[in-house]
Amino acid sequence: MPQDSAPQLFFIGAAGTVTGSATLIDYPDNGSQYGRRRILVDCGLYQGREGPASPSAVPLFPVDPSSIDDVVITHAHLDHAGYLPRLQREGFRGTIHCTPPTAELLTLVLTDAARVAGNTTGSTPPPYRDADIRATLALLRPLAYGQWRELGNNVRLRLWNAGHILGSASAELSGADTALPEHIVFSGDIGTGTSPLLPRPEAPSGPAHLIVEATYGGRNRAALSPTQRRERLCQLVLTGLRRGGPVLIAAFAIERTQELLADFALLHDRGLLSAVPVFIDSPLASRVTSIFDRRLGPELQGIMHRGNFHFIAGDSGSRALDQAPRSAVIVASGGMCEGGRIRHHLAAMLPDEACTVILSGYQAPGTLGRTLLEKPPHVEIDGQTVAVRAEIATMDFYSGHADHAQLLDWIAARRHQPGALFINHGTDPARQALAAALRKADLGGSGIYLPAPLERFALKPAGASSLGPAPLNSARGSG
Ligand SMILES: [Zn+2]
Ligand SMILES: [Zn+2]
Repeated sequence: MPQDSAPQLFFIGAAGTVTGSATLIDYPDNGSQYGRRRILVDCGLYQGREGPASPSAVPLFPVDPSSIDDVVITHAHLDHAGYLPRLQREGFRGTIHCTPPTAELLTLVLTDAARVAGNTTGSTPPPYRDADIRATLALLRPLAYGQWRELGNNVRLRLWNAGHILGSASAELSGADTALPEHIVFSGDIGTGTSPLLPRPEAPSGPAHLIVEATYGGRNRAALSPTQRRERLCQLVLTGLRRGGPVLIAAFAIERTQELLADFALLHDRGLLSAVPVFIDSPLASRVTSIFDRRLGPELQGIMHRGNFHFIAGDSGSRALDQAPRSAVIVASGGMCEGGRIRHHLAAMLPDEACTVILSGYQAPGTLGRTLLEKPPHVEIDGQTVAVRAEIATMDFYSGHADHAQLLDWIAARRHQPGALFINHGTDPARQALAAALRKADLGGSGIYLPAPLERFALKPAGASSLGPAPLNSARGSG
C-alpha cells in the first residue's frame, strides 16, 4: 500500500502527559476498502501543571475542526472531553459518538466545569460559553457497547466497556472488514477490574494497531480485595475520628464518590461507622449518583443510600458543614482539590490538627492535591495562605486506573501481533517503563512507539513510520 493511502495517526494531546487526550485518525480515500474519513478520539483539556496558565493561552486546535467528521469520546472525564465545546465553537459540526451513560454524564460535567470555573479563582476557566455547550450536546449520538456503527465511507466504530468509570469505553475502528492495517483499538483509560460498580475491562483481540494509556506504567499498587479495601477505608476514617475529626475526603464526583458510598453502605450494613454521618458535599456528585442509581443493575440498586448519608444541596449547607459535628465524614469534590467545594473546606480544616484530609486517586503534578501530598507547612488557596496542621492521608487503593501489571494483562489479552503499539497518556518515565516491560514480555507487536506531541504516523500492515511532528493545517478562528 502506498504511504499516501495508508491511515495516519496524529497525536494531538496526552503524548507524554496524562491530560489533554486527543488523537486524530485520518483515513484517506484508498480507492477500494474505505473512503476519506477524519475521526478524533477524545477531545480533552489539559489540567494542573499540564494546563495553560490562562484561558487565552489555550492553544488553537492543530487541525481545522470543520474538517473532522466524527469525534469518539471514550469517557466523560474533562481531560478526555472538556475541549469539545471549544471544538464545536471553532467549526466542528460532525457527530460525537459515546456510550449512553457517557452522554448523560457529559451533559453534567461540561456544564459544571463552566460553573465551577466561574466561581473559583484557582482554576482555569474552560475556553467556551454556555451556548457552545448546548450546541455540542446536540451533536451527541449515543452508541451502546458491542454494536458496530457505520460512520461512513466504510469506516466502522464499536465501543467496549473499559471499566474505568460509568460509561467508559475502549474504541475499535476498522474498515469494512477488520483487515489490516486499518483495524485500530484505542484503549481509552483502562479500569482495574476490582470496582464494586464496574465490570472488568473488555476489548477485542487481534487488532492491527493498539493505542494504549500508561498512567500507571512502572507502578504497581498493593493488590487488595474489595473487602480488604473497605477495611482500610474504615481504619483510615476511625483513625481520623480518633484525632478529633472531622474527616474530609477529596473525591472525584464521578465514580470515586459512588464507589466510596457503596463501601460506606457495606460497612454500615456490618454495623461499622453506621452512626457516623457521611455528608456528600457536591451538587455534581449528587446528580451523578442519580445517574448511577438509574444505570446500575438490579443487584446494585440502593447501594449508594443509607440513613446516615446526607446529600448537601445549597452553598449555605456546604458552608454550614465547616461547623458540622466533629464525628463526621465529608466527601467533597474535586478529587485533585483544583475546584469545587473541597477548597473552602480545606481552607477551614487544614489549620486544625484534629482534622484529617484524605486524598483519593491520582493527583496530577501542579494540582493542590499533589502539593498537599508533600505536606508543606502552608498552601495558597484562592489567594489566601492557609497553614497545614491537619493530618494528610492518601487512599491510592481506590484508583480507577489499571496499574502496571494490569496494563500488561490488558495488552496481552489483545494478542497483539502484527502492527504498531503506541503508548500515550502517561509521563515519559511511565511510558518507558511500560515499553520496557512489553519488550521483555515480547508483547510489542512489530514496534513500540512513544509519540511526541503533534507527531504523525503512517500506519502500515506491520508497524508504522513517523512523519515527524507537524500540524496538519492550522485551525480557523481564534479565542
Ligand atoms: Zn479517565
Ligand atoms: Zn485519562
